[in-house]
Amino acid sequence: MKIVVIGGGAAGFFAALNAKQQNPAVEVIILEKTAKLLSKVKISGGGRCNVTHACFEPATLIQNYPRGKKELLGPFHKFQPRDMIAWLKEHGVELKTEKDGRMFPITNSSSTIIDCFLSEAKKLGIAIWTESKLRSIHKKGDCFELDIGQEKPLHADRVIMATGSSKAGWDFAKEFGHIIVPPVASLFTFNVPNFSLKDLSGASVTSAKLQIKNTKFTQTGPLLITHFGFSGPAALKLSAWAARYLAENKYEAFLQIDWLPDLSTEEVQKSLEENRCKNVFLLPKKLWKALLLKAGAQQIIHSKSSLLQLLEVLKKDTYKVSGKTINKEEFVTCGGITLSEVNFKTMESKLCKNVFFAGEILDIDGVTGGFNFQNAWTTGYIAGLSAALSE
Ligand SMILES: Cc1cc2nc3c(=O)[nH]c(=O)nc-3n(C[C@H](O)[C@H](O)[C@H](O)COP(=O)(O)OP(=O)(O)OC[C@H]3O[C@@H](n4cnc5c(N)ncnc54)[C@H](O)[C@@H]3O)c2cc1C
Repeated sequence: MKIVVIGGGAAGFFAALNAKQQNPAVEVIILEKTAKLLSKVKISGGGRCNVTHACFEPATLIQNYPRGKKELLGPFHKFQPRDMIAWLKEHGVELKTEKDGRMFPITNSSSTIIDCFLSEAKKLGIAIWTESKLRSIHKKGDCFELDIGQEKPLHADRVIMATGSSKAGWDFAKEFGHIIVPPVASLFTFNVPNFSLKDLSGASVTSAKLQIKNTKFTQTGPLLITHFGFSGPAALKLSAWAARYLAENKYEAFLQIDWLPDLSTEEVQKSLEENRCKNVFLLPKKLWKALLLKAGAQQIIHSKSSLLQLLEVLKKDTYKVSGKTINKEEFVTCGGITLSEVNFKTMESKLCKNVFFAGEILDIDGVTGGFNFQNAWTTGYIAGLSAALSE
């Protein structure tokens, strides 16, 4: 039996490795259109590769997926971060956990993961064909004919499609009858024109609550002020959950910030009254000054109305967002293969037997923190096993 994996990225590689490990008798070929393998793994996490997240309860883990939440519950019971950590350990790679739960190789280098996958693929006898772009694919009886620009087509009994967010991959899936949820960006930062806080670029708070005004989209977490607007985990997570809404609204929105999410409005008011509006909240000094200025207040509040204005700025500070900036550290695409058309017990297409899907080609994406790779590992693992063992 021959399995052809389309795409030499995280999901394709992990699917190929697990297919061959599970059933050494099958022939496994990875087709990669570029000259480079695992290129996103290489640049991920600023070159350190945020492999996964220290979150080991499937019901909690799925909360990090704006798309794919319901569908990933079953798969995470089969292969979750703990399994990935064990798999890597078995293959000589140790991970470490950062304070925020993100997990990286102890070497702090994504090459450790790439070297591990490449040496395991070699050991298992997986054929890797780089610069082999799939041009077309057709089902012929029980098998598939793949045009990769050679004189004769390549034949496959099973196909694992792991082309990430490439349009070509979705076009092939369409030929099998799949509907593609239109792709839009996720994990971006918010641009604020004429940004009043731009001189504070680089300042951050450990916890702020962001809300897209008049919507249900809200996120709390560390917030970073940039030259152009807002970034940091809270902004990135909000961009993921509101990805489609923001795309539909052409990235125009009002962003409301609660700078003191751990205190109620009444508690903040009481504290302002008692402390004559001193920064007892330990907000960065420059930010405090800027917020005072915005509220039209001075160092010392003289009137009840200016106190209430400051209260409004601290709890409901509002900025007009217009446009987005790609986050260089990690970005993904929201959209892809419609999830109801895939059997998540096997990752096989419900529309075309012996076609399996893994990774970002699916309409699944996670928030920042290692969740996107975990989707690639989990769906890759299941697709690899199912393809290798299916009748
Ligand atoms: C800068 C950056 C940093 C990131 N950092 C992190 C991180 O630290 N942690 C995390 O969890 N996630 C991170 N992500 C997200 C993560 O990289 C992706 O979710 C993950 O790589 C998806 O894996 P995949 O295998 O589905 O797709 P990809 O990794 O995109 O792989 C798809 C492969 O298919 C190939 N291909 C496409 N079309 C064809 C064709 N016709 N024929 C043959 N081959 C084809 C492509 O060339 C590519 O190599 C990051 C993303 C970016 C862009």
